Amino acid sequence: MELLNGKETFFAIREELTEKVNSLKQQGRRAPHLAAILVGGFGPSITYVNAKVKDCERIGFGSSLIELPADVTEEALLEKVNELNNNPEVDGFIVQLPLPKHINENNIIEAINPKKDVDGFHPVNVGKMVLGLPSFVPATPYGIVEMLDRNNIETEGKHCVVIGRSNIVGTPMSILLSRKANPGNCTVTLVHSRTKDLASYTKQADILIAAIGKAHFVKADMVKDGAVIVDVGIHRIEDTTKKSGYRLIGDVDFDEVSKKCSHISPVPGGVGPMTRAGLLLNTMRAYEAK
Ligand code: NAD
Repeated sequence: MELLNGKETFFAIREELTEKVNSLKQQGRRAPHLAAILVGGFGPSITYVNAKVKDCERIGFGSSLIELPADVTEEALLEKVNELNNNPEVDGFIVQLPLPKHINENNIIEAINPKKDVDGFHPVNVGKMVLGLPSFVPATPYGIVEMLDRNNIETEGKHCVVIGRSNIVGTPMSILLSRKANPGNCTVTLVHSRTKDLASYTKQADILIAAIGKAHFVKADMVKDGAVIVDVGIHRIEDTTKKSGYRLIGDVDFDEVSKKCSHISPVPGGVGPMTRAGLLLNTMRAYEAK
């Protein structure tokens, strides 16, 4: 079994982007700039946004964090989005989700200029992705495709089973791997909460992508010998042996499944860092497209 080491792949991508930024600076050009809007002080969102800002600083991208109170009105948030749309110094920006319940997320996503939508959630980018046109692809599926590619995982003609149909992971993942592209050219089956006899599908997978949001859902008897396993899930579980009091686990029962598969992405250190890579790559693309 080989690990799909997302952390190492992320470091390699970070290095490549740092070199690109240095060369831009040597040419007297400004660096790409990513902005993030954070509404309210929701715990994990703060951690994610801070990591994104830190990644930018590390590679020499400009970054700005706009923090708004949890009771901000939809109108005021839309105004901020518009400001960023019109700011020529900002190449791309994200509005960290989830948003407070009184704000309609779709209204906010649709207000973002698709050319700056580095999260790839705007319907224009989703539509272009489906059509195979150049577009921003959501960071997690983008990161997974890069991880498969950079680890020389053959996808053409393989049967890929994706568990989960969310707009940010499962659905775009199924589209990307079924496209006429490399990586791609897979036969894709997408299974979800209403699928009957789910294991009968997962057992056929050459490549299994688990994006369910349920800790250790995928067990060894659901997996074919020699399959490639990508674990998207992230769950905190109590662990008194750790200083933090918790550890992270995925949607896949790593100890069981790793004995049976050819490759597996660990949690942590797999898809998580590749998601961070996906956002940085999208920001560079937004800059280059200008
Ligand atoms: P989601 O809750 O939006 O979607 C989960 C999907 O799983 C749904 O489409 C649902 O149909 C399916 N599902 C739920 N229960 C099922 C069952 N019993 N059988 C079959 N299918 C079932 O979640 P999401 O946003 O796609 O995220 C999935 C997981 O990935 C979460 O643990 C999340 O924290 C994690 N995640 C990680 C990253 C990362 O960077 N590593 C990024 C995004 C999400």
